[in-house]
Amino acid sequence: MELFRTNAEINKWRDERWREGKTIGFVPTMGFLHRGHLALMEEAMRRSEQVVVSIFVNPTQFSPGEDLEQYPRDLDRDLKLCHELGVHVVFAPAVEEMYPPGFQTRVEVQHLTQHLCGLYRSDFFSGVTLVVTKLFCLVRPHLAFFGEKDFQQLVVVRRLSKDLNLGVEVIAHPTVRESDGLAMSSRNTYLSEEERRSALSLSLSLLEARKMVAEGELRADVLVQRAEMMIEAEPHTRIQYLQVVDEETMTDLTAVTPAAVMAMAVFVGQARLIDNMRLWPDSS
Ligand code: AMP
Repeated sequence: MELFRTNAEINKWRDERWREGKTIGFVPTMGFLHRGHLALMEEAMRRSEQVVVSIFVNPTQFSPGEDLEQYPRDLDRDLKLCHELGVHVVFAPAVEEMYPPGFQTRVEVQHLTQHLCGLYRSDFFSGVTLVVTKLFCLVRPHLAFFGEKDFQQLVVVRRLSKDLNLGVEVIAHPTVRESDGLAMSSRNTYLSEEERRSALSLSLSLLEARKMVAEGELRADVLVQRAEMMIEAEPHTRIQYLQVVDEETMTDLTAVTPAAVMAMAVFVGQARLIDNMRLWPDSS
Protein backbone atom coordinates (compact mmCIF):
# COMPACT_ATOMS: atom_id res chain seq x y z
CA MET A 1 0.00 0.00 0.00
CA GLU A 2 1.20 3.48 -0.84
CA LEU A 3 0.63 6.60 1.26
CA PHE A 4 0.53 9.85 -0.68
CA ARG A 5 0.56 13.28 0.91
CA THR A 6 0.78 15.51 -2.16
CA ASN A 7 -1.28 16.21 -5.26
CA ALA A 8 1.77 15.52 -7.43
CA GLU A 9 2.06 11.97 -6.09
CA ILE A 10 -1.60 11.07 -6.56
CA ASN A 11 -1.63 12.70 -10.03
CA LYS A 12 1.33 10.62 -11.16
CA TRP A 13 -0.11 7.37 -9.76
CA ARG A 14 -3.52 8.04 -11.32
CA ASP A 15 -2.04 8.82 -14.75
CA GLU A 16 -0.14 5.52 -14.68
CA ARG A 17 -3.27 3.55 -13.70
CA TRP A 18 -5.29 5.25 -16.45
CA ARG A 19 -2.62 4.34 -19.01
CA GLU A 20 -2.86 0.72 -17.82
CA GLY A 21 -6.66 0.86 -18.19
CA LYS A 22 -7.35 -0.06 -14.55
CA THR A 23 -10.72 0.61 -12.91
CA ILE A 24 -10.20 2.95 -9.99
CA GLY A 25 -12.58 2.83 -7.01
CA PHE A 26 -12.51 5.66 -4.49
CA VAL A 27 -13.68 5.96 -0.87
CA PRO A 28 -13.43 9.50 0.53
CA THR A 29 -13.38 9.64 4.36
CA MET A 30 -12.45 11.91 7.24
CA GLY A 31 -10.62 9.02 8.89
CA PHE A 32 -10.99 7.47 12.36
CA LEU A 33 -12.22 4.49 10.42
CA HIS A 34 -14.93 2.18 11.68
CA ARG A 35 -16.81 -0.78 10.20
CA GLY A 36 -19.02 1.54 8.15
CA HIS A 37 -15.98 2.88 6.31
CA LEU A 38 -14.51 -0.61 6.01
CA ALA A 39 -17.70 -1.91 4.38
CA LEU A 40 -17.42 0.82 1.73
CA MET A 41 -13.78 -0.10 1.18
CA GLU A 42 -14.61 -3.80 0.85
CA GLU A 43 -17.25 -3.03 -1.75
CA ALA A 44 -14.75 -0.84 -3.59
CA MET A 45 -12.26 -3.74 -3.55
CA ARG A 46 -14.88 -6.07 -5.01
CA ARG A 47 -15.87 -3.70 -7.80
CA SER A 48 -12.61 -2.06 -8.85
CA GLU A 49 -9.07 -3.12 -9.70
CA GLN A 50 -7.39 -0.31 -7.77
CA VAL A 51 -8.77 1.29 -4.61
CA VAL A 52 -7.91 4.73 -3.25
CA VAL A 53 -9.05 5.84 0.21
CA SER A 54 -8.70 9.48 1.15
CA ILE A 55 -8.34 10.56 4.76
CA PHE A 56 -8.85 14.28 5.16
CA VAL A 57 -10.71 16.16 7.88
CA ASN A 58 -11.98 18.85 5.56
CA PRO A 59 -12.05 22.24 7.33
CA THR A 60 -14.31 23.92 4.74
CA GLN A 61 -17.27 21.72 5.71
CA PHE A 62 -17.18 22.76 9.38
CA SER A 63 -18.79 26.01 10.52
CA PRO A 64 -17.29 28.13 13.31
CA GLY A 65 -18.20 26.56 16.66
CA GLU A 66 -18.46 23.03 15.25
CA ASP A 67 -16.14 20.16 16.16
CA LEU A 68 -13.28 20.59 13.64
CA GLU A 69 -10.60 20.68 16.37
CA GLN A 70 -12.07 17.85 18.47
CA TYR A 71 -12.83 15.61 15.48
CA PRO A 72 -11.14 12.26 16.31
CA ARG A 73 -8.00 11.42 14.35
CA ASP A 74 -5.70 8.38 14.34
CA LEU A 75 -3.83 8.11 11.05
CA ASP A 76 -1.58 5.22 12.13
CA ARG A 77 -4.54 3.05 13.06
CA ASP A 78 -6.38 4.03 9.86
CA LEU A 79 -3.36 3.13 7.71
CA LYS A 80 -3.10 -0.25 9.39
CA LEU A 81 -6.79 -0.98 8.70
CA CYS A 82 -6.49 0.08 5.05
CA HIS A 83 -3.37 -2.03 4.64
CA GLU A 84 -5.06 -5.10 6.15
CA LEU A 85 -7.97 -4.71 3.75
CA GLY A 86 -5.68 -4.57 0.71
CA VAL A 87 -6.34 -0.93 -0.24
CA HIS A 88 -3.81 0.20 -2.86
CA VAL A 89 -3.43 3.88 -2.00
CA VAL A 90 -4.23 6.13 0.94
CA PHE A 91 -4.28 9.81 0.05
CA ALA A 92 -3.92 11.92 3.19
CA PRO A 93 -3.09 15.49 2.18
CA ALA A 94 -2.33 18.34 4.60
CA VAL A 95 -4.82 21.20 4.72
CA GLU A 96 -2.34 23.50 2.92
CA GLU A 97 -2.03 20.99 0.09
CA MET A 98 -5.78 21.10 -0.52
CA TYR A 99 -6.26 24.79 0.23
CA PRO A 100 -3.04 26.68 -0.49
CA PRO A 101 -2.83 30.45 0.04
CA GLY A 102 -4.94 32.27 -2.55
CA PHE A 103 -7.50 29.48 -2.87
CA GLN A 104 -10.91 31.05 -3.62
CA THR A 105 -13.13 28.70 -5.61
CA ARG A 106 -16.51 27.31 -4.50
CA VAL A 107 -18.82 24.67 -5.95
CA GLU A 108 -22.55 24.97 -5.26
CA VAL A 109 -25.35 22.44 -5.63
CA GLN A 110 -28.40 24.65 -5.31
CA HIS A 111 -31.68 23.07 -4.27
CA LEU A 112 -30.86 19.71 -2.70
CA THR A 113 -28.71 21.50 -0.13
CA GLN A 114 -31.55 23.76 1.03
CA HIS A 115 -33.12 21.06 3.21
CA LEU A 116 -32.32 18.97 6.30
CA CYS A 117 -28.65 19.37 7.31
CA GLY A 118 -28.23 22.25 4.86
CA LEU A 119 -30.58 24.41 6.92
CA TYR A 120 -28.61 23.94 10.12
CA ARG A 121 -24.98 23.57 9.01
CA SER A 122 -24.42 26.64 6.90
CA ASP A 123 -21.01 25.67 5.48
CA PHE A 124 -21.43 21.93 5.33
CA PHE A 125 -22.56 21.20 1.80
CA SER A 126 -20.49 23.88 0.11
CA GLY A 127 -17.47 22.36 1.89
CA VAL A 128 -18.45 18.83 0.88
CA THR A 129 -19.07 19.69 -2.77
CA LEU A 130 -15.79 21.59 -2.92
CA VAL A 131 -13.66 18.84 -1.41
CA VAL A 132 -15.39 16.07 -3.37
CA THR A 133 -14.90 17.95 -6.64
CA LYS A 134 -11.21 18.45 -5.85
CA LEU A 135 -10.75 14.82 -4.81
CA PHE A 136 -12.56 13.53 -7.91
CA CYS A 137 -10.29 15.71 -10.09
CA LEU A 138 -7.18 14.44 -8.32
CA VAL A 139 -8.04 10.74 -8.14
CA ARG A 140 -10.21 10.59 -11.31
CA PRO A 141 -11.96 7.43 -10.11
CA HIS A 142 -14.41 5.47 -12.19
CA LEU A 143 -16.47 4.59 -9.12
CA ALA A 144 -16.88 6.38 -5.80
CA PHE A 145 -18.52 4.84 -2.75
CA PHE A 146 -20.68 6.79 -0.31
CA GLY A 147 -22.71 5.64 2.71
CA GLU A 148 -26.47 5.97 2.97
CA LYS A 149 -25.97 7.03 6.57
CA ASP A 150 -25.24 10.48 5.09
CA PHE A 151 -27.99 10.11 2.54
CA GLN A 152 -28.42 13.81 1.70
CA GLN A 153 -24.68 14.02 1.06
CA LEU A 154 -24.93 10.99 -1.21
CA VAL A 155 -27.72 12.56 -3.27
CA VAL A 156 -25.88 15.90 -3.46
CA VAL A 157 -22.65 14.24 -4.61
CA ARG A 158 -24.48 12.19 -7.22
CA ARG A 159 -26.05 15.39 -8.58
CA LEU A 160 -22.67 17.14 -8.53
CA SER A 161 -20.93 14.38 -10.48
CA LYS A 162 -23.71 14.39 -13.07
CA ASP A 163 -24.07 18.17 -13.39
CA LEU A 164 -20.33 18.80 -13.79
CA ASN A 165 -19.76 15.74 -16.02
CA LEU A 166 -17.13 14.48 -13.62
CA GLY A 167 -17.56 11.00 -15.05
CA VAL A 168 -17.66 9.33 -11.64
CA GLU A 169 -20.34 6.76 -10.91
CA VAL A 170 -21.52 7.32 -7.33
CA ILE A 171 -22.38 4.06 -5.59
CA ALA A 172 -24.48 3.94 -2.42
CA HIS A 173 -23.74 1.57 0.44
CA PRO A 174 -26.33 0.74 3.15
CA THR A 175 -25.80 2.10 6.66
CA VAL A 176 -23.66 -0.16 8.83
CA ARG A 177 -24.93 -0.40 12.41
CA GLU A 178 -23.72 -1.65 15.78
CA SER A 179 -25.41 -4.89 16.85
CA ASP A 180 -28.01 -2.92 18.84
CA GLY A 181 -28.85 -0.69 15.85
CA LEU A 182 -26.84 2.49 16.49
CA ALA A 183 -25.49 3.78 13.17
CA MET A 184 -21.69 3.68 13.18
CA SER A 185 -20.09 7.10 13.22
CA SER A 186 -16.70 8.54 14.14
CA ARG A 187 -18.67 10.96 16.33
CA ASN A 188 -19.99 8.10 18.52
CA THR A 189 -16.67 8.40 20.38
CA TYR A 190 -18.02 11.63 21.90
CA LEU A 191 -20.75 9.70 23.76
CA SER A 192 -20.59 8.79 27.46
CA GLU A 193 -22.04 5.42 28.42
CA GLU A 194 -25.34 6.99 29.41
CA GLU A 195 -25.49 9.08 26.23
CA ARG A 196 -24.73 5.97 24.20
CA ARG A 197 -27.88 4.38 25.68
CA SER A 198 -29.95 7.47 24.81
CA ALA A 199 -28.52 7.50 21.28
CA LEU A 200 -30.14 4.16 20.63
CA SER A 201 -33.50 5.97 20.48
CA LEU A 202 -32.59 7.28 17.01
CA SER A 203 -32.53 3.88 15.32
CA LEU A 204 -35.33 2.54 17.53
CA SER A 205 -37.63 5.39 16.52
CA LEU A 206 -36.83 4.78 12.84
CA LEU A 207 -37.67 1.10 13.22
CA GLU A 208 -40.88 2.02 15.02
CA ALA A 209 -41.83 4.33 12.12
CA ARG A 210 -41.19 1.52 9.64
CA LYS A 211 -43.34 -0.80 11.73
CA MET A 212 -46.17 1.74 11.85
CA VAL A 213 -46.00 2.15 8.07
CA ALA A 214 -46.09 -1.64 7.62
CA GLU A 215 -49.24 -1.64 9.77
CA GLY A 216 -50.85 0.98 7.53
CA GLU A 217 -50.02 4.38 9.09
CA LEU A 218 -48.99 6.65 6.21
CA ARG A 219 -49.45 10.10 7.78
CA ALA A 220 -46.03 11.69 8.07
CA ASP A 221 -46.98 13.95 11.00
CA VAL A 222 -48.17 10.99 13.07
CA LEU A 223 -44.94 9.09 12.38
CA VAL A 224 -42.82 12.14 13.16
CA GLN A 225 -44.65 12.77 16.43
CA ARG A 226 -44.18 9.19 17.59
CA ALA A 227 -40.46 9.24 16.72
CA GLU A 228 -39.99 12.60 18.46
CA MET A 229 -41.69 11.25 21.56
CA MET A 230 -39.39 8.24 21.71
CA ILE A 231 -36.26 10.35 21.35
CA GLU A 232 -37.33 13.09 23.72
CA ALA A 233 -38.15 10.49 26.38
CA GLU A 234 -34.41 9.80 26.68
CA PRO A 235 -32.04 11.99 28.71
CA HIS A 236 -29.41 14.18 26.96
CA THR A 237 -31.26 14.31 23.62
CA ARG A 238 -32.19 17.42 21.65
CA ILE A 239 -33.76 17.05 18.21
CA GLN A 240 -32.48 19.43 15.55
CA TYR A 241 -34.75 18.11 12.79
CA LEU A 242 -36.84 15.01 12.24
CA GLN A 243 -38.69 14.81 8.94
CA VAL A 244 -40.18 12.52 6.35
CA VAL A 245 -38.77 13.51 2.96
CA ASP A 246 -38.65 12.30 -0.62
CA GLU A 247 -35.31 10.57 -1.22
CA GLU A 248 -34.81 12.22 -4.63
CA THR A 249 -35.73 15.83 -3.86
CA MET A 250 -35.25 16.05 -0.07
CA THR A 251 -38.59 17.88 0.19
CA ASP A 252 -41.14 17.17 2.93
CA LEU A 253 -43.83 14.55 2.38
CA THR A 254 -47.20 14.67 4.10
CA ALA A 255 -47.87 11.00 3.36
CA VAL A 256 -45.47 8.10 3.01
CA THR A 257 -44.63 6.98 -0.54
CA PRO A 258 -42.18 4.31 -1.79
CA ALA A 259 -39.57 7.11 -1.90
CA ALA A 260 -40.12 8.21 1.70
CA VAL A 261 -37.17 8.47 4.06
CA MET A 262 -37.34 9.48 7.69
CA ALA A 263 -34.26 11.57 8.42
CA MET A 264 -33.08 13.14 11.65
CA ALA A 265 -30.29 15.06 13.31
CA VAL A 266 -30.21 14.82 17.09
CA PHE A 267 -27.78 16.18 19.63
CA VAL A 268 -26.99 13.57 22.24
CA GLY A 269 -24.91 15.43 24.79
CA GLN A 270 -22.39 17.34 22.68
CA ALA A 271 -22.49 14.88 19.77
CA ARG A 272 -24.63 15.74 16.76
CA LEU A 273 -25.77 12.42 15.31
CA ILE A 274 -27.69 11.81 12.10
CA ASP A 275 -29.62 8.76 10.99
CA ASN A 276 -32.26 7.86 8.42
CA MET A 277 -34.27 4.95 7.08
CA ARG A 278 -36.55 4.25 4.14
CA LEU A 279 -40.07 3.73 5.42
CA TRP A 280 -41.73 1.71 2.68
CA PRO A 281 -42.17 -1.99 3.57
CA ASP A 282 -39.47 -4.23 2.04
CA SER A 283 -37.24 -1.25 1.08
CA SER A 284 -33.71 -1.69 2.40
P1 AMP B 1 -16.96 10.29 7.11
O1 AMP B 1 -15.59 9.81 7.44
O2 AMP B 1 -17.88 10.33 8.29
O3 AMP B 1 -16.96 11.56 6.30
O4 AMP B 1 -17.61 9.19 6.17
C1 AMP B 1 -16.97 8.77 4.99
C2 AMP B 1 -17.91 7.90 4.20
O5 AMP B 1 -18.30 6.78 4.99
C3 AMP B 1 -19.20 8.63 3.81
O6 AMP B 1 -19.59 8.22 2.50
C4 AMP B 1 -20.18 8.13 4.84
O7 AMP B 1 -21.53 8.15 4.40
C5 AMP B 1 -19.70 6.71 5.04
N1 AMP B 1 -20.16 6.20 6.33
C6 AMP B 1 -19.96 6.74 7.55
N2 AMP B 1 -20.58 6.02 8.50
C7 AMP B 1 -21.20 4.99 7.86
C8 AMP B 1 -22.02 3.90 8.27
N3 AMP B 1 -22.33 3.70 9.54
N4 AMP B 1 -22.46 3.05 7.32
C9 AMP B 1 -22.17 3.23 6.01
N5 AMP B 1 -21.40 4.25 5.56
C10 AMP B 1 -20.92 5.11 6.46
